[in-house]
Amino acid sequence: MLLDYVPFPFLAIVGQQEMKTALILAVVNPRVGGVLLIGPRGTAKTVAVRGMLDLLPSVERSTCPYGCEPEAAYARGIDAVCPDCAAKLARGESITEPSHMQLTELPLNARLEDVIGGINERVAIEQNRVRIEKGILAHADQNILYADEINLLDGQIINAILDAAAQGRYVVRRGPLTGTYRARFVLVGSMNPEEGSLRPQIMDRIGLHVLVSGLEDMDERLEVCRRRSEFDENPHAFAELYAQDTLAVVKDIKEAKALLPRVRLTPPAQRVALEAIWRLKIASNRADIFTMEAARAHAAADGRIAADEGDVRAVATMTLRQRHSEFMIQYFEQAKHQDQIIQDTLDSL
Ligand SMILES: [Zn+2]
Repeated sequence: MLLDYVPFPFLAIVGQQEMKTALILAVVNPRVGGVLLIGPRGTAKTVAVRGMLDLLPSVERSTCPYGCEPEAAYARGIDAVCPDCAAKLARGESITEPSHMQLTELPLNARLEDVIGGINERVAIEQNRVRIEKGILAHADQNILYADEINLLDGQIINAILDAAAQGRYVVRRGPLTGTYRARFVLVGSMNPEEGSLRPQIMDRIGLHVLVSGLEDMDERLEVCRRRSEFDENPHAFAELYAQDTLAVVKDIKEAKALLPRVRLTPPAQRVALEAIWRLKIASNRADIFTMEAARAHAAADGRIAADEGDVRAVATMTLRQRHSEFMIQYFEQAKHQDQIIQDTLDSL
């Protein structure tokens, strides 16, 4: 039974500072574009992701079985929600309630249909209305979506996840029927590079790349063993040791999220980010966006509304690594050279 499941506390993880920072930044600002944890087995990647459960703030979630959202009624009128919700809104009642963010784990054997969901065709025919059957992505709305071994997933599934993550929603079409699903989730993927790589265009779409290597300090390794055995002996008592500090982090994350809309990058911070990207010859615009969003999250987490050069420097290794493509640089150089020959030939005629 999962009822009694106690995750290993996030704050009890020894070392791995970059991984912890990346995961917290992604919760503070979902626009950092998700986190990719890269490293061998046994380096606490999954432990960290599951441990995040305790750090996640509460969100407003629809109470309607059809997933009606109040924004839909405000934006498109009362016909955009079901009759029950329309009646509630007319009475001034809420159709959402506070609920904890959760961790949705994507099973490795998930099929595309499980991931995106579909439309209940029986209800559609009998009752002449579109009944949404939620897929994993819709269940992940306002949650963390964890794709362990993301490099082993089918390409179609990865693309569906990344499209939904970028847009916060997705549409399923079955014949004449369509259903729109909200899917505002924070993607966390993990991969062991020994078991296969991830295509560059997929890598490019994930914001923070974190290298998770084994601990090198012997004292730290010993501390990992000690905490692990203490946890296994009595998970509740162990979690209790970190409960106070965990609550403080939850409060910090909540405050950082509230501050984020007001956080701006200073002009020198923008210049450092863009100059670094230019000098590293990174072509993708996503590098700019992810770096600036991560810097904003970093400032917000520190309680500041001005994201400065220090914030850019703190996040840039995570947002810029593995984006430089020697292949593309040579490709464009060759193309330029060829263009020159064409031009010279035309000029000589
Ligand atoms: Zn409804």
